[in-house]
Amino acid sequence: MSVSSSAVAIWPGLPDTERRVLLELLLHGEQPRVRIAERLGLSRTSLTRVTRGLIDGGFVLEGALHVSGSRGRPAEMLRLRPDAAHFAGVKLTADTMYLVVTDLQARVVAEAEHPLPSREVTDVVDLIARSVPDVEGGEVVAIGIAVAGDVSETPDGGGILHHSNFLGWDAVRLADLVTSAAHLPAAIVNDVHALAGAHHWFGTRARHSSLVVYGVGAGVGSGVVIGGELHLGANGRAGRVGHTRIGGRGRTCTNGHVDCVHSFVTMPAIAHNAGAEPDDYERVLERARGGDAVARAAFENAARALGAAIAEAVNAFDPEVVAVMGEGTDMLEIAPQHVRSALAEFLEEGYPDEVLVERPAFEFGLYARGAAVAAMRRLLV
Ligand SMILES: [Zn+2]
Repeated sequence: MSVSSSAVAIWPGLPDTERRVLLELLLHGEQPRVRIAERLGLSRTSLTRVTRGLIDGGFVLEGALHVSGSRGRPAEMLRLRPDAAHFAGVKLTADTMYLVVTDLQARVVAEAEHPLPSREVTDVVDLIARSVPDVEGGEVVAIGIAVAGDVSETPDGGGILHHSNFLGWDAVRLADLVTSAAHLPAAIVNDVHALAGAHHWFGTRARHSSLVVYGVGAGVGSGVVIGGELHLGANGRAGRVGHTRIGGRGRTCTNGHVDCVHSFVTMPAIAHNAGAEPDDYERVLERARGGDAVARAAFENAARALGAAIAEAVNAFDPEVVAVMGEGTDMLEIAPQHVRSALAEFLEEGYPDEVLVERPAFEFGLYARGAAVAAMRRLLV
């Protein structure tokens, strides 16, 4: 699992052509040299020089992992060495830090969980800087941090957390603070954008050039991939969905609406709308599965709200696929027909059946993994 010293020496200051070859292998898998040269517009000579450096640095291996008769001489194939670099990903909630370490293929090789000592920025930064080196699994070259909140990038590649409800933070240059404390490049990312970025690069075999990922849990948000790029927005707010008024009466949202998507689709809204306490989602889910009419109605309204939110994004972006992820996606299982009927209601007539909605396997660690992928993007894109 250890990284060769030369790999660490040239990482993260990888020259541009080396970086592009590495990214090509990361995104598109093992390939013959000639194809890489073609795709990147490199001469045979310069590709030979670059791959020599990457092989010596421990990033790239020669020879096919999967032998195929039609692919030419084995030594012509190049592939990524997944353990050539490791990335730490952190997901912060109001009271806990979830930490994973991944390899270059976003496979989680270690994980840890720590309660936050307080919500003071310096305490949290200190916890991140102390915890990352303690995680076994491989030498970490960059740290990504995912938070529910508005995040935008600064021209120097850092990131500012403009606002986080959960942590009560405003205008925090979190990436710079973590870099200073941990002496590693750091990236900060909105948690649903992190989920979308990781799903785009590593979530499906077919790498879609357009994709919308919904994160549904305590809140709702989306991450948008257009033209093969994760779109963060001018102020880090791309993918904000949920205040469209859809009628009915549900939980009051932060904007004071009782009839918007937020009023129905989040886990606290579903619990509230079933007459339970906002943190009683699991019990309401059991009731709905058991046939309780009030609980079922709360999930049916959530499904309709989700359909309305999906329609917003589909109307705006026309993506190849929509993926619904998060801890609170059970409305897709309980009331799928209500999602479909909302699509028919909120999309232009004639197109609802063309919308491909997927519910990928989800566990909470995917947010931290998404943060690790954001760290990877920071160095490779
Ligand atoms: Zn609202």
